[in-house]
Parts: sequence; C-alpha cells; structure tokens
Amino acid sequence: MNDHEIVLRIQELMDGVEWTPDTLNEIAQVLSDNGYRIRDLDGEKLPTSDETPENKDKFSLFYECPRCHEYFSDSGPHVTNDDCPYCGQRDVAPYEVQDNAEQE
Ligand SMILES: [Zn+2]
Repeated sequence: MNDHEIVLRIQELMDGVEWTPDTLNEIAQVLSDNGYRIRDLDGEKLPTSDETPENKDKFSLFYECPRCHEYFSDSGPHVTNDDCPYCGQRDVAPYEVQDNAEQE
C-alpha cells in the first residue's frame, strides 16, 4: 500500500465506527504493516538504551558532604563533582559511582 491507500484504509476503519481500543489497534496494525513505527505503550518496552540522547542517567552518583556529612545523590551522563544541597559545599566528589549502562 502506498501512503494514500493507507490513509483510505484508515478512513474506512474509522467510517461510522464507534472508536474502541480495538479501533486504535487496527489502525496501528495497518500502519505497522506498512512500515510505520508504532510504539506499543502497553507491550514490551522497546529497547531504549541507544535512543536516550546522551544517556541522560548513565551514572548514578552518590555523595557524602565532607562539611555537613549529609548524603545526597545525583545522576547524569558523566561522573562529576556536585554541590551539597544542604550546606552549599562545592565540588563534592562522589564516594560511589554506579554505571547504569552496565546493568541489564
Ligand atoms: Zn554539606
């Protein structure tokens, strides 16, 4: 089917039909049968590891403030020092780094 036929097919599906979740599934089926990418939110998760731009939460970082001894944590694409949210101590180095990308 070309794009135009797909649109017609979907119009047919929608024509005079009371929409139900099945209607959406049928439309999704028509689209995915024709090479459109459909995300199934209820289904299995699509692999996302390569899709997250710049691996936003690649590392979980755990800090203990050397000044006030509060613990805090952060996550990010790089291992970085962070500022203590409790007392403002700057450049606290993480005492523990968890590489989330290595967990499967
Ligand atoms: Zn502190």
